[in-house]
Amino acid sequence: MNPNDELAELLFPEIKETIEDLEARFPPRQLPEGAQVTRFAPSPTGFLHTGSLFTAMISSTVAKQSGGVYCFRLEDTDTKRTVTGSDQDLIDQLAAFGIVADEGYFPNGDKGAYGPYRQSDRASIYKTVIKELIREGKAYPDFCTPEDLDQIRKIQEEKKILPGYYGEYARDRNLTSEERIARIKAGTPWVIRYRSNGDHERKTKFTDVIRGEIELQENDTDVVILKSDGLPTYHFAHVVDDHFMRTTMVTRGEEWIPSTPIHLDMFRALGWKVPKYAHLPSIMKLDNGNRRKLSKRKDKEAAVSYFLDQGYPAEALKVYLMSIANSNFEEWSITNKSFDIDKFKFSIKKMSFDGALFDMDKLNYFSREVIVRMPLEEEFEAVYEYAKAHEEVFAKRIESDPIYFKRILNIEKDSKNPRKDYAKYSDIYPIIRYFYPDEYDKIAASELPFNPAYSKELIAAMMEDFKGMPFGVDENTWFGFIKEVGAKHGFASSNKDYKTDPSAFVGSLSDAAGVLRVAIVGSTLSHNLHEILDILGHDEVVRRLEIIKSK
Ligand code: GLU
Repeated sequence: MNPNDELAELLFPEIKETIEDLEARFPPRQLPEGAQVTRFAPSPTGFLHTGSLFTAMISSTVAKQSGGVYCFRLEDTDTKRTVTGSDQDLIDQLAAFGIVADEGYFPNGDKGAYGPYRQSDRASIYKTVIKELIREGKAYPDFCTPEDLDQIRKIQEEKKILPGYYGEYARDRNLTSEERIARIKAGTPWVIRYRSNGDHERKTKFTDVIRGEIELQENDTDVVILKSDGLPTYHFAHVVDDHFMRTTMVTRGEEWIPSTPIHLDMFRALGWKVPKYAHLPSIMKLDNGNRRKLSKRKDKEAAVSYFLDQGYPAEALKVYLMSIANSNFEEWSITNKSFDIDKFKFSIKKMSFDGALFDMDKLNYFSREVIVRMPLEEEFEAVYEYAKAHEEVFAKRIESDPIYFKRILNIEKDSKNPRKDYAKYSDIYPIIRYFYPDEYDKIAASELPFNPAYSKELIAAMMEDFKGMPFGVDENTWFGFIKEVGAKHGFASSNKDYKTDPSAFVGSLSDAAGVLRVAIVGSTLSHNLHEILDILGHDEVVRRLEIIKSK
């Protein structure tokens, strides 16, 4: 047997398949022209980063809008970082954002013909490729210990040259297969390295979908492709998986740009077609005037769970991320009066490649728009689910009278210009708690924000008169009554009259309504007062007027 074959056999006796067999097992996909196969490939570290959600969303959108396939691949080869059980969390969190893979790893069984989709289940696939690379002399077992590698690094530091395992510094690169066989048989620990034919004095190029042509130093490092635990490194797994899963576009974070020459080197050595690369921008944060990546350690906004815990609708975060992805989205949403990102034609080519600054105000803006547009039943369910998980008191209120709460949520739903008070579900209860009589009593027990120019007597007299207000009438009729009460107490009957000579009146017409608002709601701002009064009903309104009158 030729020594390379013998070495390959000694290392991987259990591997019987060949690359050709894998090619047949995972044939090129039959997809329409332009359809993209994308993937999201997180590591199960127990944390869904906002930047990862962004990547997942872009990957799935590109696949969906091109009529392609979106895969979910679990990259669990770094066993030290893997958090058991977090694969399900990841999948659940993505599902909360409506991001569900067409194909991929699911804890209770893979879906799709290009799996397995969990890297730790693919060891034999990686080994099949490596076995063949070893036969061809394109990969080799390396016996360096961490101390040996340190030694090499020191020499390179002294010589002030590029660090790494390459060329003459790749100590075990030129051992003969016979020598390797002898060491393996003697029980020396090994890893497998890829034998690069590159030269870092030369340049290599690729066209990034977002950034255009990128030119970098060629790779000449003999990178580790199989670790001593029998699992591949990221570099090798990326090349093998994206080839055999027939990925057409690799959407991944921009931090992978510097390693791309390694991947190009391996794709070419294997004679495989290089997929398109789209390196997505990082989401940034301003920190003391400096831009930096959102940090898992320092920033609460780095965790997707933060937004869900705060009660942002998943849809709102997606809409916000879409506005980062394509800067024309915001204008589109205004022109089309729609925040439905599925209707928006996303263009990955138009993506900005400067990392966007995470902007809470912008998120709040989009979230208000999303919440205000939610159909009542959907909003009710979402708020109730949120309250059950995060706000016990609020949940109990809802349960005490769901129909009453629905009426509260429904205020201004049909209005052309509704108030947009809720940016997140946790904003709701503090704003609407005055609807519940015992909460109102607490509010009314404290100082209320009446205009200090109005005397106690004036307010008391107005309360008495407001008790006669009609219920079950349209807003105009009701407002006519408010006007009458106002006029009786010296308020102007129209804004025009008031503007002509403010000094002739106690206040404007809206000031008169404002007195009623403060009395009923405890605040100078609220949703439509007529609707509020209608929900509270005659008895509760009169009770409140009495309380204020006798304060
Ligand atoms: N597991 C890698 C990461 O989490 C995936 C990068 C890629 O998408 O290729 O960064």
